[in-house]
This record gives sequence, structure tokens and C-alpha cells, in this order.
Amino acid sequence: MAEFNKVKRIAILGSTGSIGTQALEVTDNIKNGFEIVALSAGSNIELFTKQILKYNPMFVSVKNKEDADKLQKQFPSLYVFYGEEGLKKLAELPMVDLFLIAVSGKIGLIPTITAIQNNKDIALANKETLVMAGDIVMKSAKEHNVKILPVDSEHSAIFQCINNEKNVKHLIITASGGPFRNSSYEEMKNANLDEALSHPRWKMGKKITVDSATLMNKGLEIIEAHHLFNFKYEDIKVVIHPQSYMHSAVEFDDGSIIAQLGIPSMHIPIQYALTYPQRCIGIETESFDFIKASKLEFYEPDFEKFPSLNLAIEMGKKGGTYTVCLNAANEEAVFAFLNKKIAFLDIYKITKYMCDNYVPVTNPSIQDILNEDEKVRTEVKNIIEKMRVLL
Ligand code: NDP
Ligand code: MG
Repeated sequence: MAEFNKVKRIAILGSTGSIGTQALEVTDNIKNGFEIVALSAGSNIELFTKQILKYNPMFVSVKNKEDADKLQKQFPSLYVFYGEEGLKKLAELPMVDLFLIAVSGKIGLIPTITAIQNNKDIALANKETLVMAGDIVMKSAKEHNVKILPVDSEHSAIFQCINNEKNVKHLIITASGGPFRNSSYEEMKNANLDEALSHPRWKMGKKITVDSATLMNKGLEIIEAHHLFNFKYEDIKVVIHPQSYMHSAVEFDDGSIIAQLGIPSMHIPIQYALTYPQRCIGIETESFDFIKASKLEFYEPDFEKFPSLNLAIEMGKKGGTYTVCLNAANEEAVFAFLNKKIAFLDIYKITKYMCDNYVPVTNPSIQDILNEDEKVRTEVKNIIEKMRVLL
């Protein structure tokens, strides 16, 4: 087990999720590395209770008041908060060195902004934060001299490849291609939930797994990369790399390309964000074996078969609240697909319809962004209910 030269006091928002649980596994394997000051969960109280017992945080937050009351009874000395206000309170804790934002969805935005305004470094997994409010978040991070350390594997790869160098020409983001890479249109039209959720390479939360099947996830990642690395959309390329060994790359002005490779495991980028700027031995993972891997393949994405990718890039280029609309419409459509209310290909159709008919807000504030998000979601829910009546 690795030893770390300074204990970092961390808060993990979304500790019961895919990223959150893996982040806790990372901390388990670095002796004297971390003090877990705060944790948050949504509704998985059974797992959360185990985490509280094991990691002994001082502060926690859950989604509902009812669960918060139960936890407070069970752990009288614990500070228990709830709801979005609870997440915000955690983000205000002065004794935290680093916040890992691993909640899913738009609820990541306010705690991230709050922690930045309190001069705290962020390990950012939550994509929606940058997709919805990348301009505001990155500006605020700059003003507060705060580091935004990417957790998403592609962005962690790019961050590691750039390594503070200048003169970067292109960012090259890899995509596995998802479960429907080789499927026909007919097969995608009839795709059921299990098929959409069986990602060939990564085990993730359900929403992001469906996004990986439509390639919307890659589109969101391009928007994330645009903000994180301050790169024009024209200079961000996507390549399909089914083996997921090369996590992304950058091309420099002199023609050199530096790529980051390794086995597909989220433990590695999570750990890098948590231990940055140090690297250390953490969870024992098998070494990447070039001979065993034998070949790395690269293909052009099929923009026709996966139109969500282009839609995301288009909305990114339009900027402003167009990406709020994209994110909200897509997320609501994905939820409807997960609840078996719509078919797989309807996710794109609904998102596209909303984006085509969207009237944006220029120079939005955070409140404008949240209002727009709510407005789009309400409309999408209405559309889906109407569709269900008609079909
Ligand atoms: P999960 O769905 O597995 O986990 C989400 C976490 O957020 C859980 O702890 C969940 O709590 C909590 N949560 C959800 N809704 C609420 C709410 N209303 N109030 C409070 N807490 C809530 O998601 P992932 O871990 O897969 O993803 C998290 C974020 O990281 C997403 O933005 C995703 O895009 C991004 N990401 C994920 C990757 C991955 O490999 N999974 C890779 C790159 C980025 P509970 O379960 O207790 O209800
Ligand atoms: Mg990713």
C-alpha cells in the first residue's frame, strides 16, 4: 500500500455512485493519504450507512429529509444535511482541501460553483457542470485560482499529456463506440434497455452508459474539453478506438503526439485527480501488456448513425444556453428511455427537436441557466407524455 506525504481532507459528493465508490476504494489503498471529511448520497441509504460506519465523516448529506432524520437518529454526533441545500452546505465546509464532485446530473453545478467561490480545488467527474455552465465555472476557477482536476478518463488523459506545455495543436478524444458500434439502424431502432446498458468496456452509472450508446457522451465530453482546456471545437478531434486502451491524446505544433494509455479502469484517473500533483502506487491493477493487447484500432466516428455527436458539437459551437437545452433535453429523454417510456432512437429525436426550437438566453447567469434547464425539462416531459398518449 502506498504512503502519501500529506493527508488531504476531502469531501466526496455522490459517494454511493459508480465514481464515488471507486474513489473510496482509491482512498482505501493509500495509507495516510486522505481524511474523509464529508460524504453525500442520494437514496442508497443502505450503502451510505456502511460508508458512514467505515469512513467516519463529520458531515453528510442525502437527498431527502426523511432519510436525513433517520441517519441523524442513528448517528447523533454526525452533522446531517439534505437536498440540494445540503450539497451546497457541504461545499461551504472550510476544512476541506479538495471536493470530488461525483453526483450525476445538474445537481453538481451549485456545489461546484460554491466550492470554487470558497477557493477550494475540485476533482470534477460531473460532466453537466461544464456542459451547462462551462464559461462561468472556468472563469470563476481562474478568478479564485482554483484547480479543476478532470476525473473523466479522456480529460484526465489530455490533462496528463499537456502537462502544462504550450503549443498544443489538437486534442484527440477517443471513444469506444459503445454497444451499438457495429449494429444496424434496425437493431438500434429496436434496442432494449439491457442492450443499451451493456457497455463493452466501462462499468458506469446508467445515464452515462446510455449516453455512451448514443455517443452523446462523447459530444458532452467535447464540450467539457472545450471549456477545461480552452480549445476551439474545430481543434478537438474524435476517434473511435474500440479497445479503450488509449484514453486520449494531444498533438503539438511540432507534429509530436503524446497519448495516455493504460487498462480501462476509472480508478486511475480518479486517483490522479485525488493525489495530484503526486503520482503514487494505489489499487493494484494489472499492468497494461502491449503484446497481449496486440492491436490498437482507430476509426472515424459514424456521424450519420450517431447524430447525437454532431448535435452536441453544434450546440457547443452555438454556446450560451444552447448546451443547457441539449443537456436537459437529453437527460430527460434518457430517463424516459430508462423508464421504458420511449424507444432508444427517440432520445436523439426529442433532443434534436428541443435544440431546433430553442430560444437561448444571452450572457446567462447561473440562475438563468437553472431556469432554462427547468423550462426545457418541463417541456420534454410534456412532449413525452403526449407521445405516449398518441402511440
Ligand atoms: P451514478 O449514477 O453511479 O452515481 C450518482 C451519484 O449521485 C450517486 O451517489 C447518487 O446517489 C447521487 N445522486 C443522484 N441524484 C441525486 C440527488 N438528487 N441528490 C443527491 N445525490 C444524488 O453516476 P456515475 O458515478 O456514473 O457518474 C457521476 C458523474 O460522473 C456523472 O456526471 C457522469 O457523467 C460522470 N462520469 C462518470 C464516469 C463513470 O465511469 N461512471 C466517467 C466519467 C464521468 P444514490 O445512488 O445514493 O441515489
Ligand atoms: Mg469519459
